[in-house]
Amino acid sequence: MKRALMGSEYRPCTYLSENSKTGASINLPIEGHCTPTKRCAVDCYAKSGHTILESNIKKQKFISNYLLGKDITELVYECRRLTAVRLNGTGDLLMKHVPAIINLAEQCPLTTFWGMTRKIKIAERINGRLPNLSLLVSVDSTSPKSVWKYNGPLCFGPRRPEDTVPDNDMIITIFPRHHAGIIIGNVPNDPKDCLAIRKIVKGCLECKRCWSWKE
Ligand code: SF4
Repeated sequence: MKRALMGSEYRPCTYLSENSKTGASINLPIEGHCTPTKRCAVDCYAKSGHTILESNIKKQKFISNYLLGKDITELVYECRRLTAVRLNGTGDLLMKHVPAIINLAEQCPLTTFWGMTRKIKIAERINGRLPNLSLLVSVDSTSPKSVWKYNGPLCFGPRRPEDTVPDNDMIITIFPRHHAGIIIGNVPNDPKDCLAIRKIVKGCLECKRCWSWKE
């Protein structure tokens, strides 16, 4: 078994993180990684709960550095066993992570890598390269206008009750604002709402909407 907390030799027991909705995810730090909108800075689900435990933040930082290294063997082995892995389960990618993510997807052709980013340039580097790798660009009611120029798939959220979702075919999924599995406020229903948040499915593997838009 790999060593856990050992000072400067720290390595997590597993490189992937578990998530009851997405199954498995590569979690990254918020700090130094995210460029949140005003809405996201307040509503982000990863700002509270178990994701901010010291051990989890330590792991997020480790993974961020690990993706900058030359050897991602351990992560490849974990991902190859899975049908799908969520990218950025917390935090966001940096541009310098992109080569490792592409390498990972190439080495795991039977695993789907999917997720969301706030960064158009990251999505432009990732999308369209490999059949098993894609990102939605996250937008919300406080996003800068420039984001809407992105010519690729979007997701909208966190959506508060007062937010109007633009009529835009590029929006694949809407995320009603929620915490610990509970929607906050009377967010209007929309056919594009995340099925897990609306408790129509248990998790992403039952749904696949956020990556099957490519098919
Ligand atoms: S819409 Fe489906 S695939 Fe996307 S996050 Fe929700 S449950 Fe997962």
